[in-house]
Amino acid sequence: MLVLDGFVPWPLEVVVNYIRSGHWEDRTLPDVLLAACAQNSSRTALVRGDDRITYAELERESAGLAVLFQRHRIRPLDRVVLQLPNTPRFVTTLLALLRIGAIPVLALPGHRHNELTQLADRSGAVACVVPDRHEGFDHGELARSVLAEVNSVRHVFVDGEPAGSTQLEPDFGPDPAPVEIDPTDPALFLLSGGTTGVPKLIPRTHQDYLCGIRASSAALLDHLDPVYLAVNPVAHTAALGCPGVLGTLLAGGTAVLATTRRPAELFELIERERVSLTTLVPPLVRTWVDAARKQTVSLPRLMLQVGSAKFGMTEAREARKLLGCSMSNWFGVGEGMMTWHRVENDSGDTGGEGRPLLSADEIVVVDEHDNPLPPGREGALLVRGPYTIRAYFRAPEINADSFTSSGFFRTGDLARINADGELDVLGRIKDIVNRGGNKVPVEEVEHYLLTYPGVIDAAVFGVPDAVLGERTHAHVVMNTERPEPGAIKRHLRARGLATYKIPDRVVFAAQLPRTPVGKLDRRALAAESAGARAK
Ligand code: AMP
Repeated sequence: MLVLDGFVPWPLEVVVNYIRSGHWEDRTLPDVLLAACAQNSSRTALVRGDDRITYAELERESAGLAVLFQRHRIRPLDRVVLQLPNTPRFVTTLLALLRIGAIPVLALPGHRHNELTQLADRSGAVACVVPDRHEGFDHGELARSVLAEVNSVRHVFVDGEPAGSTQLEPDFGPDPAPVEIDPTDPALFLLSGGTTGVPKLIPRTHQDYLCGIRASSAALLDHLDPVYLAVNPVAHTAALGCPGVLGTLLAGGTAVLATTRRPAELFELIERERVSLTTLVPPLVRTWVDAARKQTVSLPRLMLQVGSAKFGMTEAREARKLLGCSMSNWFGVGEGMMTWHRVENDSGDTGGEGRPLLSADEIVVVDEHDNPLPPGREGALLVRGPYTIRAYFRAPEINADSFTSSGFFRTGDLARINADGELDVLGRIKDIVNRGGNKVPVEEVEHYLLTYPGVIDAAVFGVPDAVLGERTHAHVVMNTERPEPGAIKRHLRARGLATYKIPDRVVFAAQLPRTPVGKLDRRALAAESAGARAK
């Protein structure tokens, strides 16, 4: 039996309990996906622009890619950084890696040198899979720099022009060699949107991820004709497995990968492909609502699943009405837990982020000593259940902080549970800016600001924004002549910081406010900025 060093297995009694209660199956993710391919061979699995891929083609291409990976000695439990945009190739590559038992590490398209090298290093990845270029950026070159810097990385596979690396092309000759995969092992690594600089690695086992997919499908997809539209990166679990693309494939439905974010074009696509479910972050819903104020929009077949950041109930109701669709508010973390709430017009509906998907899911709000608080009281949100992890990969110190001794995950969210049992997420306890669903760890950005010559102090904080929910501002103190703010943003880009972490605004300050104990007072800065904007 292979053992993955650094992976903390689920406690045995918990495994037995979840298997007995039927939450966990004795099957792997590739098993069930390949079974769906066999059952639905002539149906359309994936659509992107004019490309339409059947389940048979999905299976065939993933087999060819599996052979390619095996030819390059990628073995069960090897980690492979997968950074592809929303293309059918993402899905076929994911399935290829899953079926050979390798563990895809799902990097976001916006990740750059910093994130990618550290992800590859921490996961001990043996390979990176990237597009040649995406949105004007040379990912091939990026992956080759990871190959040069991270010892464990042996291969770079490039979708498109390989420029000296291996081309990501299926080998349609032999069948992939059979491998044994243990459903209690990690199927994939998601990335946390947490407070530390580089995302933490979230090992999702076959059993727990499948459980989450099935639970979210039961809530959101099973009663629909399953046609899912992916607008945000499918490398993020929101569009991948909540229920997202994977839930849709398990249901024999069609996953449509959008090539645009323009509302009018998306409305047409929804109509044309008869889309029944999509997941959006609040800023995108707002662009849809703006469009719906200018043209009549009616999407009666669509269930809009809104989450990743707060979407208030009044706004949700208005959006639902203007778009003529059904709507669910949804709360989810890459670590697992999901809650949801169907938005109705009923004004007695108190809203919030709803209830967990399964009766076996536990959510509790606690005080600073981890004592549970009664309904209505604000505190820290802790979660536990059959699809919520109990440890990050290779992070013993972080695990000690992030999980309680009884296995609850500390989400870092400030929340309360209302008298009717609904979760209400109020904000973050730790310093993170939720920029329209993209999580910006402020300390990391401050660290990079301090590498600019002459910067002696820096503070990054969120300011409210009508579209994104929050935008990122940076205040910097310099002991040399001030450059133009653009120079600082360019510096951050050149240091390899992910695109979404670049501050929206850089302001020069004489000094930064500090709390009585000398800590940076980001709240004061945020309040000051909000005050300045209000004037
Ligand atoms: P990620 O792991 O990137 O999905 O980020 C998870 C975090 O996103 C949570 O801990 C929350 O801070 C935030 N989040 C997700 N959904 C919601 C929601 N519906 N309302 C408020 N915050 C949310």
